[in-house]
Amino acid sequence: MIRVFKLLFKINFKNILAKDFFLQFMKNFNPSKYICPNCKAKHPDWKKYCQYNRYLINYENESVVYNLISVTRYQCSSCGRTHAILPELIVPYRSYTFLFILQVIKDYFSKSLTVSTICEKYNISVSTLYTWKSLFLLQKKLWLGLLKDIYISSIQFLESLLFTHYPQEFFLMTAISFLQSYTKTSKYNPP
Ligand SMILES: [Zn+2]
Repeated sequence: MIRVFKLLFKINFKNILAKDFFLQFMKNFNPSKYICPNCKAKHPDWKKYCQYNRYLINYENESVVYNLISVTRYQCSSCGRTHAILPELIVPYRSYTFLFILQVIKDYFSKSLTVSTICEKYNISVSTLYTWKSLFLLQKKLWLGLLKDIYISSIQFLESLLFTHYPQEFFLMTAISFLQSYTKTSKYNPP
């Protein structure tokens, strides 16, 4: 897959409409500047290979919105591999947007709402909430290192995720996206 970052900085991310954001992103997407993540060819002749539908669930205007979007896969002319194009709003293999998960975690750590109220607000199960919380804490520690992890609160870290290049740097470092579950094919080897 090809991940594209740096877009959320430029907009008022809290008010974004996920489907509009995605459609705008794909309209402006130009594959020619991306290297192939598989064979590292610098300027392959990218060809549109196929499209597949997936859900993109976002929290907008105080409600959960279920969008159906069409993700495009491009094929590298050099190695023949195909890659899905995913902007940072999408978490690979998850239907919920990156911002959706961050909002849930933020509500949890700010302690302003109970767990059951949060689950009702976002229409998620308690186990989903705890899975996201654990993954967040694990990846926070992975990214910050044990020492810094102790001094930087979850809320501080959450906010830094939205205003820095952390999500992109995390992806470059670990080959997985922040808040994506680990897979057996992950290339990351813990230090
Ligand atoms: Zn290639």
